[in-house]
Amino acid sequence: MISPKLRLIREHNRVYRYLLKWLWRVQGKDSPRVYMFHGVVDSPEHVFSQFAITRNSFERFIEYELSRGQIPMDADILKKAVDYPSAYNNHFIVTFDDIYDSVYTNAYPILKAHNVPFIIFVTPSLIDTIDANPKSNNPMITSEHLHEMTSDPLCILGAHATHHVVFRTLNETQARNSMMESKQWLENTFGKKVDFFAFPFGRQVEVSNANIRTLSQCDFCCGFSALDGSLRQKWMSGRWFLPRILVDDEYVAKAWTNKGNRA
Ligand SMILES: [Zn+2]
Repeated sequence: MISPKLRLIREHNRVYRYLLKWLWRVQGKDSPRVYMFHGVVDSPEHVFSQFAITRNSFERFIEYELSRGQIPMDADILKKAVDYPSAYNNHFIVTFDDIYDSVYTNAYPILKAHNVPFIIFVTPSLIDTIDANPKSNNPMITSEHLHEMTSDPLCILGAHATHHVVFRTLNETQARNSMMESKQWLENTFGKKVDFFAFPFGRQVEVSNANIRTLSQCDFCCGFSALDGSLRQKWMSGRWFLPRILVDDEYVAKAWTNKGNRA
């Protein structure tokens, strides 16, 4: 039996999500975008959920964005685009959550070849483990690979909480500690400043307004949700729960079909 409160939150999430996506279309698909990825797997039979994309699709996606004149953002430009989204149409940045080892093996070489900056939102407790999702069973990033990747100037380090938990279930102190400890641990371990945060799971069902307020007090530049939309919708989301766009194989296939139709 679902409680009325949860039902209400779910309903609110559904309406809000729909509005963000609709506004993104209305305001232009080329408004500044933050793309979200998780696993980048070898082949279609390894796609364990909507949070995995094949290496081939990922490469086509990067090539597609660059070929239509979209401009990759680095950390400094992203900060400006968050402040003034309407001045940064046709800009994008690629982000990864949780950090599967496949980001290192499959996505990183492609990003390097095209000189495209990217953010990795790391959950420290997941490093050197195996994904607990039985459908995936994929290895998470190793410390060695993480050190190598973070030493590359293209790699922007972001925090994704100390443990991959539903923030709504934490009290304020626990939420604050998870945000701050992940940030400090990553900064101390990899010697890079951590200015960006992404909420685990990242929908309103899992993240409360109190959690978002806590993040605003934690010395980050901004925070990201997992809801579809562009940075132009900041006026609606606020800077601590900014929308991103989930890209999967289907998304890339559609983008290429549209490109073919336009040609
Ligand atoms: Zn996550």
